[in-house]
Amino acid sequence: MMYRRRLVRFVVLCGLLLLTVVGANLACANSPEAQVIDTEAASSTVTPYSTNAPLVYGKPSDIVWEALASINRDRALTDLRRVTGGEPICGSSDCYTVTNRPTGSEGLGRVKAYVETQLADLGYSVVRNNWSAEGYSDQNVIATKLGSVLPDEQIYLVAHLDGAGNTGGIYPAADDDASGAVDLIETARILSGYTFSRTLVLFFSTGEEQGSLGVNSYLSKLSAAEISKIKYVVDLDMIGYDANADGVMQLFHGDHAPSKALATSFKDIILHYGVNLVPDVTVGCA
Ligand SMILES: [Zn+2]
Repeated sequence: MMYRRRLVRFVVLCGLLLLTVVGANLACANSPEAQVIDTEAASSTVTPYSTNAPLVYGKPSDIVWEALASINRDRALTDLRRVTGGEPICGSSDCYTVTNRPTGSEGLGRVKAYVETQLADLGYSVVRNNWSAEGYSDQNVIATKLGSVLPDEQIYLVAHLDGAGNTGGIYPAADDDASGAVDLIETARILSGYTFSRTLVLFFSTGEEQGSLGVNSYLSKLSAAEISKIKYVVDLDMIGYDANADGVMQLFHGDHAPSKALATSFKDIILHYGVNLVPDVTVGCA
């Protein structure tokens, strides 16, 4: 039951992520027929990373409602079982049950392949990004959907595939961070049916438990010009666990004013669309 309850929570949060992309990403819907999320219209009102002004997320959008309605809880639950060993991951040659997902492990390797297949089948451009740092090496899995209007402006959604290891329980690292990763897979499915003005980057990292090695290695190799293309980043980590079942969703933003603005907008969007959560904008990092 705990397992299912957690899933219910993070599928709801998947909806929130959609809101982030379709809503906080300054959505101003064109005609639904076009299925293009126009982020251009409101861009003049926002200067990311240089102001603490709230983001503008536009009027309630039929596209957002449509996207929210298409969240498939059973599909996400299947992903969660596979990523955490509740059922095997089966390919063309064999089936494999994941027992844990430490960086560099076979279990993590199987999960990376699974995620990669899901994303490629959805039509995303998917690459493996090799990294090596501090005695560890692994790969990030990165899926991209090129923006149709402002392709050089990128929105990153991040979750880590690696886990701290099986500490004796079932479903290892289900919360940290299969919850975020599975959310991102389901989000990828839904968003694959839309076109966005800005480029969407779905970043499945590894080496997170060793100090965000995969992400840091990736960033260290980007040029200043490439860094400047990154306009927003939403990190989904441990989103499936509500220890005291109070429905409070903590939105951590650190001490960076623009991040606080993003978190505040996230809260506004939750309220705007009547999502059944209690958003709590919190300084610091979980
Ligand atoms: Zn984590």
